[in-house]
Amino acid sequence: AKRAKASVAAGATSVLASPVIRPASRSRTFDYLIVGAGFAGSVLAERLSSQLGKKVLLVDRRSHVGGNAYDEKDAAGVLMHRYGPHIFHTNSDEVAGYLSQFTRWRPYEHRVLACVKGGLHVPIPINRTTLNTLYGLDLRTDEEAAAYLASRAEPVERVKTSEDVVVSAVGRELYETFFRGYTRKQWGMDPSELDKSVTARVPTRTNLDDRYFTDKFQNMPADGYTRMFENMLDQPGITIELGVDFEDVREEVDYDRLIFTGPVDEYFDFRFGKLPYRSLSFRHETLDQEWFQPVGTVNYPEEGTPYTRISEYKHMTGQASRKTTITYEYPRADGDPYYPVPRPENQALYKKYEALALETQDVHFVGRLATYRYYNMDQVVGQALATFRRIAEREGRAVIA
Ligand code: FAD
Ligand code: UDP
Repeated sequence: AKRAKASVAAGATSVLASPVIRPASRSRTFDYLIVGAGFAGSVLAERLSSQLGKKVLLVDRRSHVGGNAYDEKDAAGVLMHRYGPHIFHTNSDEVAGYLSQFTRWRPYEHRVLACVKGGLHVPIPINRTTLNTLYGLDLRTDEEAAAYLASRAEPVERVKTSEDVVVSAVGRELYETFFRGYTRKQWGMDPSELDKSVTARVPTRTNLDDRYFTDKFQNMPADGYTRMFENMLDQPGITIELGVDFEDVREEVDYDRLIFTGPVDEYFDFRFGKLPYRSLSFRHETLDQEWFQPVGTVNYPEEGTPYTRISEYKHMTGQASRKTTITYEYPRADGDPYYPVPRPENQALYKKYEALALETQDVHFVGRLATYRYYNMDQVVGQALATFRRIAEREGRAVIA
C-alpha cells in the first residue's frame, strides 16, 4: 500500500497542513507531473498553470515547498533558513520582475568578513581594506592597490583551476590565507583539482566596496522565501503533495509530461555511475542575546576550524528580536546533494547523462541538480523561465514572461 501523503490544496494558508489519506483507487490525471518544489519546479508549476492553463501535480519528498531556499520561524520566533543562508541577488530584470509578482522586497546587501590569522576579521572579497588591515599598509587608491596585487601575483600560463585563478590575481600568500583552507574543507579536495569557476565566484577588488555581491538587484523577500513560494503556488490548477517521492507517484498518476528537478543521475538509476555532489551539515543555534556577529556571514578559511562559515539571519531579514539565530556549515561528502562538484571528469560524466536526458521524450530536466550546474537561485529561475518559453513555443502559444 502506498504511504499516506501529506497533501495540501493550493491556496491553503499553510503548506504544512495536516496529511490526508488519498484513496488509492481514485484516478488522477494531470498534464504535468513536476518533481521537486524548489525554484525550478515551483516556477514551472506557476507558469504552466497560470499561462497555459495546465493541470499540474507538484511533488516533493521533503515536507515543505521552497527546496533549499525554505525558511521558517524557529522555536524562538526567529526567521531562519533550514538549509543555510540564502541571499537573493540578480542582474536579470526578467527574473526580478517575475518574482516581484509574488513578494515585496527588503533591500539587503550582503557583507562577509573572513576570520584569519587566528582572529583578525577582514572583508572578503579581498579589497583595499583587507590589504591595509592585513599588512598594515596605507594603500590610498585603486591604482596603488592594483600595483600592490600585481607585485604579488604569480603569472599562470593557462588559468584552469581554482588555484590558478586566485594565485594569478593575488599571489600565493593571500591565496593560502583566504582560499586554500576554505576550499579544501568545502569541497574535500585541493583548489588545484577544481575548475576555476568555483573560486572565480569570489572576485578581488582594489576599491573599498565590501559587499559580497555587486548585482544591481539585491533584496530579500520581505516575508521570507516560503511565503513567496506559497504565493507562487496559490493557483487552482496546481496540486501539491509533500513528503512524496517521485517513485511513489510515477506509476500511480497519469501525466503527459514530466519535469524533473532532482539529481539527474538518480533519475537514470546511476546508469553511468554516481555524479558527485557535495553536502553539508547545518548546526542551528538560537542564542539568548541580541546579536552574535557584526555581519550576515563570517567565513572561517583556516583548516583547523571544522566549519566554513557562520551566518546570522537577522542581518538578512531585518527582523527585530531579543534573541538571534545562527547557522554553522560543516562540509561533508555524504548526505543531501547540495553542490555539483565542478571539475572536468564530473562534467564529462554529466555530459553522458545530459545526452540521455535529451533523448528522453516528454521529460524536461531543470535546476541545479538536474542540470548539474553550480547555479544561484536567480539562474535557476532564469533557466526555468527559458524552459517554460520553449514549452509554450512548442505549443504555438505566445507568452510574456
Ligand atoms: P532544490 O532547491 O534543491 O529543489 C529540488 C527539490 O527536489 C528538493 O526540494 C528535493 O527534495 C526535491 N526532490 C529531488 N528528488 C526528488 C524525488 N525523487 N522525489 C521528490 N522530490 C525530489 N543561491 C543564491 O542565489 N544565493 C545564496 O545565497 C545561496 N546560498 C546557498 C547556500 C547553500 C548552503 C546552498 C546549498 C545553496 C545556496 N544557493 C544560493 C543555491 C540555491 O539553493 C539553488 O540555486 C536553488 O535553491 C536551486 O533550486 P532547484 O529547484 O534547482 O533545487
Ligand atoms: N571561497 C574561499 N574562501 C572564501 C569564500 C569562498 O575559498 O572566503 C571559495 C570556496 O571554494 C567556495 C567558493 O569560493 O566554495 C565559492 O564561494 P561562495 O561564497 O560563492 O560559495 P556558496 O555560497 O555557493 O557556498
